[in-house]
Amino acid sequence: METSLPIRYLDRLDLDALRGLAGAVPYQLLATDLFPRIEVWIRRDDLLDPLISGNKAYKLLFNLMDARERGIEKIITCGGAWSNHIHAVAAAGRRFGFQTVGIIRGERPRNLSATLRDAERFGMELKFVSRDLYRRRAQENFLQLVDIRYQDALFVPEGGANLAGVRGAKFLGQTIAATLPGKFDQVWLACGTATTLAGVQWGLNTAKVTGVPVLKAGASFFSQIDTWLAALGEGPGSASLCEGYECGGYAKFPDYLRQFMLNFEHQSGVPLDPVYTAKLAFALHSEIRKGKVAAGSRVLLLHSGGLQGRRGMAL
Ligand SMILES: *Cc1c(COP(=O)(O)O)cnc(C)c1O
Repeated sequence: METSLPIRYLDRLDLDALRGLAGAVPYQLLATDLFPRIEVWIRRDDLLDPLISGNKAYKLLFNLMDARERGIEKIITCGGAWSNHIHAVAAAGRRFGFQTVGIIRGERPRNLSATLRDAERFGMELKFVSRDLYRRRAQENFLQLVDIRYQDALFVPEGGANLAGVRGAKFLGQTIAATLPGKFDQVWLACGTATTLAGVQWGLNTAKVTGVPVLKAGASFFSQIDTWLAALGEGPGSASLCEGYECGGYAKFPDYLRQFMLNFEHQSGVPLDPVYTAKLAFALHSEIRKGKVAAGSRVLLLHSGGLQGRRGMAL
C-alpha cells in the first residue's frame, strides 16, 4: 500500500489561505522528564510551511499583503548571515512574485552561509554592508546610506518588526486562542524584538503570555511592546518577561544549552533551534526546577520555527 503525506504550504497570498494553514498547525503534548508536575504542550509553527516558517511567516505575510494591496513589487529588508527573516523573505518573494533585496551585515564572505545561498537561489539580491553602516539600520536615511534604490519598494525592518508585523503576530494569537486544546494557564514564547510577544498577547487575550528574551535588552522590551500597542490603539498589555536565559547573549550556544537541547529533542522528538526555541524550553525547564511555576499548570510553548538556522551551528 502506498501512502503519501500531503505537504501543506501557503499557495496563495491571502488571509484565508493563511487562516487555513495556521488553523491546522499541530499541538503536541511533550512526554519528557524535563518539566516535572507541569503539563507542557508545544504548538508547532515550525511546520506551518516548509520554507516560510514560524513567527516570521505571520509578521512577513501581513507586510506582503499590504505591499500587494498598494501595488508594490519590490521588498527590501535586512539581516545577518543566518537570519530566519532573510530566508523567509527570499522564499516568499520567489513564491508570490516579489523582487527582493537583502541588506546583509558584514563583508561578503568567500563562502556564503547556507541561509544566504538559499536566499540567492530564491532570487534575492544580496547587498553586503559594513557592520558600521548596518548599525544604522533603524535610521530614517538608512537606504540612502547603503545606496539602494528604494523608490516603489517596501522596506521591512529586520525581523519583520513593524506594525504590520505586530498585526501578523496578533493573528497568530487569535489563531492560538481559537485552536488551543483545552484551557491553558500560560503561553511561553521566545523574544528577539518582542514584536511577536506584543501581537500574540494582544490576540490571545486570556492566558498569561511570558516572553523569554534571547538577548540582553532589559527594559527596552517593555517600552517597545507598549509603543506597538499604543500605536494600534490598545492599552499596555499584560505580558511578562522571564529574563536571565540569554545564555551569554544573542546566538551564543554554551555547552549546557547544547546538552539541554539535545536531551529535549531526544526525549520529545521535536527539533529546536539553538538561537530561540532552545533558550525558550531551557527557561521553562529551569523556572519549573526553581519552583516558579505552580504544580499542575498547563503551559503552551510556541515553536516559532527557525530550524533552517540550525545549519549554522555545530551540533
Ligand atoms: C525571529 C524569531 C523570534 C523572535 O521574534 P520577535 O518577534 O523578534 O521577538 C523567535 N523565534 C524564532 C525562531 C525567530 O526566528
